[in-house]
Amino acid sequence: MNLAGKTAIVTGASSGIGAATVRKLREAGVRVAGGARRVDRLEADVSLELDVTDESSAAAFVEQALTELGGVDILFNNAGLALGRYPFTESTLADEETVLHTNVDGVLRMTRLTLPHIRDGGHILFTGSVAGRQAYQNAASYVASKFGLRGFAYALREDLLGRPIRITTVDAGLVESEFSLVRYRWDEQAASAVYEGVDPVTPDEIADCVMFALTRPLHVNVDEIVVKALAQSSGARVVRRESL
Ligand code: NAP
Repeated sequence: MNLAGKTAIVTGASSGIGAATVRKLREAGVRVAGGARRVDRLEADVSLELDVTDESSAAAFVEQALTELGGVDILFNNAGLALGRYPFTESTLADEETVLHTNVDGVLRMTRLTLPHIRDGGHILFTGSVAGRQAYQNAASYVASKFGLRGFAYALREDLLGRPIRITTVDAGLVESEFSLVRYRWDEQAASAVYEGVDPVTPDEIADCVMFALTRPLHVNVDEIVVKALAQSSGARVVRRESL
């Protein structure tokens, strides 16, 4: 399917997978409204501040994006984060709220606000995770959030069945972005150790998966894409070069 002339909303567009997807969408002739809290980092056709955890911020973002784009065909629910790697016995209310409010509530909110405006032939996509398919240790809130997101995508597919709107989840494994910096609260050593001895997937390679799903013929719904580094079989199991 040719995407030229279509319009898209991308959340979490200031970094990593979101920023890479904005670039590829624009290259394909899509006009994109990108949102994130760090508005200065956005490089979209329409760059707007967005906090997906905040109803009024999200509502203002969607309203402005729709006005500027003149309607929307694609919603990419990508904003998300993990915080820390610790056993659940050490969990804090603050971390649980941030992770669940961003990765679950934020996705439901953005979908609820945008869905009434998505044109026929439209597409809703989610960035899920291998953490939403198989639990790994010391990541309970993140695992719960990504299982929750996958449940929502399945439920939405049921509710929209019969309407010309496609739904795709891209479940990613290790992707080198700011994800680990955020998770380890900008401890660069801890963050870079995550990718040591592995060739991680790049944000561009995840964006390619998004573009693949978007460009299938309209009658083809790519439900799920699971993509991991070759050296990773699950969130818990990564083979690093020094241990080979
Ligand atoms: P990233 O480089 O840290 O990007 C995360 C994006 O989410 C940023 O643009 C950030 O923007 C945005 N964001 C976070 N909280 C937000 C909020 N409250 N409101 C609006 N935007 C918010 O990490 P990434 O790897 O590209 O992550 C994108 C998605 O991929 C996430 O859903 C993540 O869970 C998922 N994922 C990542 C990996 C991985 O290994 N990297 C693996 C599987 C899944 P601001 O901070 O500017 O708001």
